[in-house]
Amino acid sequence: MSTLVSVKNLSKVFDVSKPWLNRVIERLPKAHLTATSDVDFDVEENAVYSLVGESGSGKSTIGKMVVGLLQPTEGNVEINGVDLASETDIEIIKQSRTDIQMIFQDPYASMNPRWRVRDIILEPVVASNGDTEGLAEKLLEQVGLAAEDATKFPHEFSGGQRQRICIARALASAPKLIVCDEPTSALDVSVQAQVLNLMDDLKSELGLTYLFISHDLTVVRHISDRIGVLYLGRLVEEGTPDQLFDAPKHPYTQMLISSAPKIDGFGREVDPPQGEIPDPIDPPSGCAFHPRCPIATAKCKSERPALRELDDNRVACHLA
Ligand code: SF4
Ligand code: MG
Repeated sequence: MSTLVSVKNLSKVFDVSKPWLNRVIERLPKAHLTATSDVDFDVEENAVYSLVGESGSGKSTIGKMVVGLLQPTEGNVEINGVDLASETDIEIIKQSRTDIQMIFQDPYASMNPRWRVRDIILEPVVASNGDTEGLAEKLLEQVGLAAEDATKFPHEFSGGQRQRICIARALASAPKLIVCDEPTSALDVSVQAQVLNLMDDLKSELGLTYLFISHDLTVVRHISDRIGVLYLGRLVEEGTPDQLFDAPKHPYTQMLISSAPKIDGFGREVDPPQGEIPDPIDPPSGCAFHPRCPIATAKCKSERPALRELDDNRVACHLA
């Protein structure tokens, strides 16, 4: 297997100061939100790499930088050895763009409700002047819908069917990598399983690679080859599903896993990890997890632990 995606020292800082307030009070300090800090990982071809963490951990920001929807503040993303931010050859840029697609949590929000399904699916291909003859119908069948559905509108479908349409649209440009941002979290549990099975089948049939973004550890455990755990924008642990679930080394991973399977009758998460997620504009010193960590020491408050290799995992904790 070769490396398809290489994420290197990726950081994203947002300026979140209020411009109108700055005009009134000139010396108001600027506020910066570090969404992602120094994130490093590789995704192997035809593998599933999952990023997990609570909301605000920087998962979606990384996904958007990988597809090129956001520019990194520092660091870079290489797809097949090409860094799109610094590449100047237009043909290589065009090809790399079609090699990466993204699917989102809310399929309905990502499609134009006034367009017919055929036009929604073919949009990326039309944009690149590709051949569209019979393509929408073929893709619909590939994702388990009917060719006749091409003439319908999005509102005529269920949530699961709409996500299938989004998957068909993502497949239209024959991508190598699909970034999946919480693709099943808006769906009922039974429908979730069907969509995940479809994604798994497509991965084998088409040799796809997935960067899978999720807060749902039960889903991630079953589909991933490798998992990266994010906390306040930093990778705190990385390993295979078995390593992470059977022997988590980072106290945050341990907390996430011990609180994972508790879902009430309404599908709501109960007993979330203890403690508040700190304000990302003013993150804690040292190890950002120290205010919630049950085994934190004085060193944890002052020194940030580096991500280091430990067996086949990587972990950022002084005590691991
Ligand atoms: Fe806990 Fe310290 Fe490890 Fe951070 S470095 S996870 S505070 S033990
Ligand atoms: Mg998100």
